This record gives sequence, C-alpha cells and structure tokens, in this order.
Amino acid sequence: MAATILVVEDEPAIQELISYSLRQAGHAVFDARNAEQAMEIVNNALPDLVLLDWMLPGMSGVEFARLLRRVSRTKTIPIIMLTARAEEGDKVSGLEIGADDYITKPFSPRELLARIKAVLRRRSPAAADDIVEIGGLRLDSATHRVTANDNEVTLGPTEFRLLHFLMTHAERVHSRSQLLDQVWGDHVFVEDRTVDVHIRRLRKALEPVNKDELVQTVRGSGYRLSASQTAAMG
Ligand code: CA
Repeated sequence: MAATILVVEDEPAIQELISYSLRQAGHAVFDARNAEQAMEIVNNALPDLVLLDWMLPGMSGVEFARLLRRVSRTKTIPIIMLTARAEEGDKVSGLEIGADDYITKPFSPRELLARIKAVLRRRSPAAADDIVEIGGLRLDSATHRVTANDNEVTLGPTEFRLLHFLMTHAERVHSRSQLLDQVWGDHVFVEDRTVDVHIRRLRKALEPVNKDELVQTVRGSGYRLSASQTAAMG
C-alpha cells in the first residue's frame, strides 16, 4: 500500500537513506530538514504519515508533533518518531504526546517499512484493505483493478483514488472540501468544482457496468457511496 510520507530529519545521510528506501517501496516522499520546512509542506498537502526525528535544529521533533496534534486538520496524521539511542528515556514522552510509534537509530530499512505498514494499517484499516466490495463493485488496491461481475472498469488515477476513498468510507456523506483533503491531499491549489468534474467522470466510467448509481449526490452536502438505492439522486 503506497503512501505519501513526510520525512523530517536534519542529518542528510539518514534523510537520503530513508527517502531512498521509502521510494523503493513505492511510497511518495516529502523531505524536510526542520520543523519549519515540514510545516510548510503540511500546509500545502497532508501526508499520510510523518517520520519525525526527535532532535532537530530549531523547533524539536516533539514540539512539532505537539503542534500537529493541536490543529484539527493535522491531529490524526500518524507520526513515527525517530530517536537516537541516547534519547531512549524520552520514548515514553514521545508516545505521550501522541506519536504512534518510535524507532531507535540505527534501524534497517526493512524494520522501518514494517513499522510504517503497521501504523498505516492500525490508523486506517479500511484503507489498508487490499480488496473492497460494495454493491457488486469490487476494487483491488493491490492491482489497481476495478471490476463489476468480472467486467473491468477503466478509471483514471484521480477517479481511482476517489472511488477508493468513497468505497473505504461508504455510507457516509463527504463534503467537497473533505474529499479534496482526503483524495487530492491538497486544499490549496484545487477548486471545489474539480471534485464535481471527477465525480462526473467516475459515474461515466461506472455506467457501462450499471454501477454509476452507487455514487450519490447529497444535495447541499456532498457525495456518498452507498449500495442502498433509496437515497435521493442528484
Ligand atoms: Ca537529528
């Protein structure tokens, strides 16, 4: 399961090693050398997870984690703290401030990837599921295939992410701005109208297999994916 990961680490060699390992594993990586850079990145696009060095120049990793936890937009982002052996005693307070896990340096790329996977699964089990099936529509996130009665549905990358989010959070209404945050991961450069455009494309792609009615408009609120046919259509 590929994720967007923000790596906040001031030591270039460690930063490079981590970024390389994450990219090799299929993740998208944002690099920051300090908390200020990291905050700029987070303000532009919400990552799926933050790897956060404990000791940073300027604002410490712990202070940055506290800051993320205080703001509603960022308070549920999974955080894994990176600590040096000498800071072991600080682990407890790292978990107290709301970090999901911590890793002691030096660590192997394999251990790092395993911890990341575990945290992502724990924090968002639905998103980590490889296969979701609702109302006869089946989405396999490992192979990026969407099918209905063995008929393949062809989707663009944005429509795929949109459908994946709606299917893993079905029966709930999502506003356009929530969808922008969750699917585009970036509130700043995309207009609300963009959501409508991609919803239309998604429905069009689902029409040939008669599944377009799963994607429902909830007037004045947003969109929902539901297997129930009783909802008002837009
Ligand atoms: Ca450091």
